[in-house]
Amino acid sequence: MIVRFAPSPTGYLHVGGARTAIFNWLYARSAEGRFLLRIEDTDRVRSSEEMIREILSGLRWLGIDWDDEPVIQSTCIDRHRDECLRLLAEEKAYWCYCSSEELETKRTAAEAAGGAFLYDGTCRNLTAGQRAEREAEGCTRVLRFRTPDGRTVFSDIVHDETSFSNEEIDDFVILRSDGTPTYMMAVVVDDHDMGVTHVLRGDDHLSNTPKQIMLYRALGYETPQFGHLPLILGSDKKRLSKRHGATSVGEYQSRGYLPEALFNFLALLGWSPGDDREVMQQEELIDAFDIIRVLRKSSVFDEEKLRWMNGQHIRLLDDADLFRRLMHFLPDDLRGVPEEYLRRIVPLMKERMELLPDFFANGRYFYTDPEEYDTDVVAKRWKAGTIALMQRLLPRLDASDFTASALEEVIRGAAEKEGVGAGKIIHPLRLALTGAGASPSLFDMMEVLGRETCLRRIRAALERIPEPEG
Ligand code: GLU
Repeated sequence: MIVRFAPSPTGYLHVGGARTAIFNWLYARSAEGRFLLRIEDTDRVRSSEEMIREILSGLRWLGIDWDDEPVIQSTCIDRHRDECLRLLAEEKAYWCYCSSEELETKRTAAEAAGGAFLYDGTCRNLTAGQRAEREAEGCTRVLRFRTPDGRTVFSDIVHDETSFSNEEIDDFVILRSDGTPTYMMAVVVDDHDMGVTHVLRGDDHLSNTPKQIMLYRALGYETPQFGHLPLILGSDKKRLSKRHGATSVGEYQSRGYLPEALFNFLALLGWSPGDDREVMQQEELIDAFDIIRVLRKSSVFDEEKLRWMNGQHIRLLDDADLFRRLMHFLPDDLRGVPEEYLRRIVPLMKERMELLPDFFANGRYFYTDPEEYDTDVVAKRWKAGTIALMQRLLPRLDASDFTASALEEVIRGAAEKEGVGAGKIIHPLRLALTGAGASPSLFDMMEVLGRETCLRRIRAALERIPEPEG
């Protein structure tokens, strides 16, 4: 079994393309097949080396590897042309001399009449003499495929039996006037030459498939199996596009998504493992992947779900790994913070983040004293008597070892002595230390912050947060 991913390097690797790559890759890796890459760079004007690099690095980042060197389509043009000329020799294709002006006029008329323009076959049956005349006049020519009558029927892996009437398909161009092959021809010859057995691609290619199947047959090639993946929609149920925000894989990378999470999320867009598993590692996805369960209906790209999934995958990383990834997002103003200190924060923040930069943004209090205190939390937690309570606590904290377990003992013991619930101390302490109402475990956090910082912040809070009147 051989599958392929065939991106055109005319733009970034977007999530739709990545999803196609993932499905092909999962299929190959789950069925001991081969996954090949082909760079479809025949649009010389819009293709660029930079985009090729970007696409390859996006695939690598996602953990998608490929077998063999990528095939560069532009290096196969001679072969495509030879196959075009073979079709001509076998009278399965013919030269068309219609000028672009003539075709344009016909197109405009067809569209004005409310129909789609299909080439009318003007040059389909020219005699040798007529052709010689056109050649002598120096007319430009394109090579058109002689579309046979009948229907083109195929069994799509996703959509099952799919059928097109050939009447809806005109004699399409396979070789342009400048001698370059069209996408339709190049893709068929290359897929054949690469031994591709299964073509999995987006639903947007469905209408190309009957034309390609006719070419396979005309060329005497074995036709691969086709499977068309459901479209990806934005939250408004319209086809996902830049309007919906980030669509390039690189953008997700730079916003602090993990490749594991994006991969997992995209694998579940249009496919399901058949049970209620959602957070899955690559190996698990390979084991579970079954092409039969690709869904027919389009799926919505739910960014909130992706963020959630990213948080889940962050929790699955070991601390050293998470630390390494976080360092790419270290804000400039924290460059001087000792590595050892940052490493101690990792297990505390791991559960409290969805995107990698959240580690720093949600945990500012690990680096700077609070400048202000959340007024809702103050109203709720800073009660009459809190200040006196804290003042009695301060010397006990000062005398304690600054380990989480010793601090917990001191604080719970103090609550008992005072005859109040532990919350009466824990919540105001958290407010004093962080300025906020939520943080990682107070005791762990205090251990990391250290004695000096904790005492300084508590004293500052006692001065700055007034108790409620009366
Ligand atoms: N190069 C085409 C694209 O980017 C893919 C062709 C195919 O998968 O057949 O959409």
